[in-house]
Amino acid sequence: MPLPLLVFRGVRAIDPARSLDAVVDVVVEQGRITRLGPNAAAELVSSEKARVIEGRGRWLVPAFVDLHAHLREPGHEYKEDIESGLAAAAAGGFAHVCVMANTNPVNDTRAITEMMVARARSIGGPSLHPIAAITKGQKGEQLTEMKDLRDAGAVGVSDDGRCVTSSAVMRRALEYASNFDIPVIQHAEDHALTEGAQMHEGAVSTRLGLRGWPRVAEDVIVARDVLLAEAARARYHVAHLSTMGAARILREAKSRGIRVTAEVTPHHLLLTDEAVLGYDTACKVNPPLREPEDVAAVRAALADGTIDAIATDHAPHSPLEKDCEFAEASPGLIGLETCFPLLLGLVRSGDLPLARLIDALTAAPARIVGLPSPTLKEEAVAELVLVDPEKTWTVTPERIRSKSKNTPFLGKEVRGSVDLTMARGEIVFEAGEGV
Ligand SMILES: [Zn+2]
Repeated sequence: MPLPLLVFRGVRAIDPARSLDAVVDVVVEQGRITRLGPNAAAELVSSEKARVIEGRGRWLVPAFVDLHAHLREPGHEYKEDIESGLAAAAAGGFAHVCVMANTNPVNDTRAITEMMVARARSIGGPSLHPIAAITKGQKGEQLTEMKDLRDAGAVGVSDDGRCVTSSAVMRRALEYASNFDIPVIQHAEDHALTEGAQMHEGAVSTRLGLRGWPRVAEDVIVARDVLLAEAARARYHVAHLSTMGAARILREAKSRGIRVTAEVTPHHLLLTDEAVLGYDTACKVNPPLREPEDVAAVRAALADGTIDAIATDHAPHSPLEKDCEFAEASPGLIGLETCFPLLLGLVRSGDLPLARLIDALTAAPARIVGLPSPTLKEEAVAELVLVDPEKTWTVTPERIRSKSKNTPFLGKEVRGSVDLTMARGEIVFEAGEGV
């Protein structure tokens, strides 16, 4: 049940989509924002019916939209399931989570898409939006029934985890998907160039004696796909863009008016391949952590809007897949709960304007998958996050709500916390006192 009356008193409300950045009161009644303005709740704060939350230097921002998460259900519920994944999302400030198709079985049918949506609805919490497969079984051959999948709730298609390497299949996928106005989301990796690869190909991989995944394996796919998207006049989206070359290709494509978009993950914005020194399996991820010049390039591309959105690529794995030799470990790391606090660091260091960070987590990803964006305005459904930008906390296994704890940020103290999240007009997460 939505709360009858909730008042955020004297809070810094920030919504770049509305050029809003001001200290105001925000009133939520029956799940909708009904008042927003300086002192707008003055006569309500003494009402017995109102729950009043004092701003105390905190921010209120639109709730986040994640374009890329692996919630592992069906098939790998020991790593994560829809319930634990949505709990982690809520704790990270997300009201919408797009979930990838590489489940077991693969989400390539209407029945699985519907099951995911129904399961999430029965749980409550953030909204789940499936991204269905491009090809049956993610085998890169036969296209899925995209119209059925879209009608069942899919907001995009991707074979994420695998690249669609055939130019002919990719061309047909782009043409077909454009009939239904859903983006084709590519995991850009030329597998012939990355066979047996363990990490980014460079000085560090040489030092560690690990087989490398060269940048160009990403760049050639992005370059090819941009040309295919241009020819098909279709919408193309690059998942987890990680190289300076891919950023350059995207910038050029956008300048020519091609309908391309991209996302970048927090870990590709924050870590380099040096993190792999010591063979920390928590840092094994696909695409791999790159070099400082790539990190600088993706930061600049995010800041100037070439890269549209931030996506977590939340990829839970159990100790079975991570407490082992580097070569045996599965790639991926969790990211829903640490995304915003970690990225606030880039705002503090001057690498990313705060308004761009919020846009890249709200309006930009919503636009890519055609969802109405959470926003702070009167009449809007309350989908918002209360943030304490100064509160520090340490990333510990006990604190993480995800079933899996595979993050290289374990033990790190971060500054900035999500204190409360609302999705669909309801409070879906609230930090306990003293947390
Ligand atoms: Zn991927």
